[in-house]
Amino acid sequence: MKGSFLVELPNPPCGDPAVIVRPRNRGLAVLAEAGDLSRVSPRRLLSVRVALVSHFHVDHAYGLARLLRVRLGHPERPLSILGPPGSAARVAHHLAGYLWNLLPAYPLDLAVLEVHRDRLETWTFPREAGFDPVRAGSRPWSAGEAVFEIEEEGLLVRCLPLDHGGTTSLAWRIDEEEGLHVDPDALARAGLAPGPWLGELKRLVREGAPPGSLVELPGGRSAPLGDLERELLFRTPGDTVAVACDLSPTEENVGALARFARNVRTLVLEAYYRAADAALAREHGHLATPEAGRLAREAAPGRLVPFHFSPRYEGKEGLLLDELRRFAAPVPVSSATPLDPCSNG
Ligand SMILES: [Zn+2]
Ligand SMILES: [Zn+2]
Repeated sequence: MKGSFLVELPNPPCGDPAVIVRPRNRGLAVLAEAGDLSRVSPRRLLSVRVALVSHFHVDHAYGLARLLRVRLGHPERPLSILGPPGSAARVAHHLAGYLWNLLPAYPLDLAVLEVHRDRLETWTFPREAGFDPVRAGSRPWSAGEAVFEIEEEGLLVRCLPLDHGGTTSLAWRIDEEEGLHVDPDALARAGLAPGPWLGELKRLVREGAPPGSLVELPGGRSAPLGDLERELLFRTPGDTVAVACDLSPTEENVGALARFARNVRTLVLEAYYRAADAALAREHGHLATPEAGRLAREAAPGRLVPFHFSPRYEGKEGLLLDELRRFAAPVPVSSATPLDPCSNG
């Protein structure tokens, strides 16, 4: 299946992690991890609707400075940052690091959603209060459930807390609702002209309106919704991607993440250490290639896209890729769509 999501990794595998997920033909992106964002254009950063930060180790979060810089002065583009407990204070520290005496000139529509074990807390940053965080709400939540929805785009973000050497690292899964399309041949056969009524038809189907509801057609006629749905529309499965990094190689983590990411089309997963350095992986709370491969086999994604290799392997990335291909088989291991400098403009 050719998916709707373009999954782009702007950095080489030993670089600081960042993943950009772009649903095709829609002007928005989801950013997972805010490591090195220096290769990502301002235009692309402006399209980020939500930034997902697994945890606030510096290699995963220092890019927030660039993201926030680009977003200043664009209050028409709301930005939500999702992260573990303490995220609001850490984002506030980012903002507190700069001088804001011309503050009214730099409006920013920012919210932070903190994922706690049992609840989601929303924080806002009113500029009139100097960007000090204000707790705006809290609702119950449990692991694996949806944390964020971009309703108008049919995107749902789920989250799973994992252990990363004693701290929490959040794994993410993005699900797109199934596609509903008009079959142009069926439309021609029925002698119907395309128009805004097709959007209305799809809306009624998505909302589960009764099949007997009458839909107005061009030319003043009408027909039952159920007939039109059967004759004119077809469905395609929604795309799925999961992103996970910085997790201890424990049975509990591997099992929980494999269930959470089961059958996604793309699994973007850290493989920080080679098999020979498995002791370091345990010590520092990371996956080495054997666990990353086993996890991929259990989750059975359409493809595994590895990222976040330790910088110690710079120039030797091929060795990790070879190991992963061996440990993950039969799951194909591939690189993500490279960031195209033209489309990134
Ligand atoms: Zn970390
Ligand atoms: Zn890391």
